[in-house]
Amino acid sequence: MPARPYILAESTWETVRNTPYEVAILPWGATEAHNRHLPYATDTMQCDAVAAESARLAWDAGAKVIVLPTVPFGVNTGQREVPLCLNMNPSTQQAVLYEIAESVQLCGVKKLLILNGHGGNDFRQIIRELQPKLSLLLCQIHWFRCVKPDPFFTTPGDHAGELETSVMLEIAPDLVRPLSEAGPGAENPFKIRGFREGWAWTQRRWVDATDDTGTGNPHDASRDKGRKYMDAVSRQIAGFLVELAAADIKDLHE
Ligand SMILES: [Zn+2]
Repeated sequence: MPARPYILAESTWETVRNTPYEVAILPWGATEAHNRHLPYATDTMQCDAVAAESARLAWDAGAKVIVLPTVPFGVNTGQREVPLCLNMNPSTQQAVLYEIAESVQLCGVKKLLILNGHGGNDFRQIIRELQPKLSLLLCQIHWFRCVKPDPFFTTPGDHAGELETSVMLEIAPDLVRPLSEAGPGAENPFKIRGFREGWAWTQRRWVDATDDTGTGNPHDASRDKGRKYMDAVSRQIAGFLVELAAADIKDLHE
């Protein structure tokens, strides 16, 4: 496979120093259990795939974008009892993001998009704190929230459910165990109404909230659903990248 010009890991110094990139994309995944049928790198692989396809579409439309290597460690403090769920605390993520962002801005790239693929990661407060210390623009997209999943799935689910399973059937089918092996992904609801209805929030202790580490039923998943959803998500993000690449970061408001 020839090198893709929008993937840093596949690019050489000669190419990189002669390309005026406008947007860097930092995909950010996690390493954690995903029911009995999906691999631990599910969030990271999905980030890789969404970032690469969105960047390809944006590049073909003329936007100079570059995908950085995916960070495979997410916030997993709720999964401490689940073996080898690898946690990276938000404060560590902030330090990592700051140092990557500084490296990116040193070569003149003016925008950095964090493409998040894990529900426990959220860079909003980190961006609020880091933005005044940086000259490049920081922003984030949760890729699984940028297109409404309802028309694509019966019940999308939250973690290792129909949405994630369908996407994995599209991007890494050999790593998906037969769905007959998957648990039902039923979530044990909170006893307190506010938490249950979602207008009050506390972190879920994963071993109490789930029986098979999944929250979402994977059994209606299909590769076709995954392909259609990935296409819609990639087109949505590519459109954003084209706009972002062309934007003047000092003039973002009408
Ligand atoms: Zn996941």
